[in-house]
Amino acid sequence: MSDVLFQGIGMTSRRTRERLVSRLREQGIKDERVLEMIRDTPRHIFVDEALSHRAYEDTALPIGFNQTISQPYIVARMTELLLEGGPRERVLEVGTGSGYQTAVLAQLVGQVFSVERIRPLQERARQRLQKLKLRNVMLRHCDGGMGWPDKAPFDGILVTAAPEQVPQELLDQLAVGGVLVAPIGGSIGQQLVRVRRLSEERFETDRLESVRFVPLLGGVVR
Ligand code: SAH
Repeated sequence: MSDVLFQGIGMTSRRTRERLVSRLREQGIKDERVLEMIRDTPRHIFVDEALSHRAYEDTALPIGFNQTISQPYIVARMTELLLEGGPRERVLEVGTGSGYQTAVLAQLVGQVFSVERIRPLQERARQRLQKLKLRNVMLRHCDGGMGWPDKAPFDGILVTAAPEQVPQELLDQLAVGGVLVAPIGGSIGQQLVRVRRLSEERFETDRLESVRFVPLLGGVVR
């Protein structure tokens, strides 16, 4: 990543970012490619300038419209789970938000198709991704609970807002051999879930750990 993006921002020094990576390692993130991308992706450009001094803390931060940029640990964990079964060529992300998870993904997979229901968030994300010259990303403004049927099948699907159940439409758009990673549950508690599609009919679901995400909502905001 170009060093120009880091100039003049003391808090985003290499040491600050190395500290974040050490912390993620301690928490069990093992995939070195993922850790490298977390270190090299400038998270401070994905948050408001007023919050940029906190960009390399391992916390979710507000991005407006009652939404948050995901915590680096969870971005790393979900990306690691997505890559576990081998390289991924076509990945659907539901919930572009700030575009940070999109940017990390785009550097590790063939193509990212990312959908967002809140137009102004999507527009901001688009500008940031352009600034980083990530050209293997396609964005769409829609209700991502329906997936992106025109671009299916996907060998990876990553959901960054929590539905009560995995939407059937997303399972239908998962290729055989593909993996879906999503937080599932409501206000009482959510679990990070991995669904692997073993054949046309067979899906294997694993519940992995407790998480906290904003809810997956229906409809769009213009
Ligand atoms: N990966 C993002 C996470 C943002 S929070 C980041 O790190 O910045 C989750 C996002 O999912 C929010 O932007 C929210 O608007 C979006 N979202 C919620 N329900 C959605 C839906 N049905 N379709 C598309 N996006 C949705």
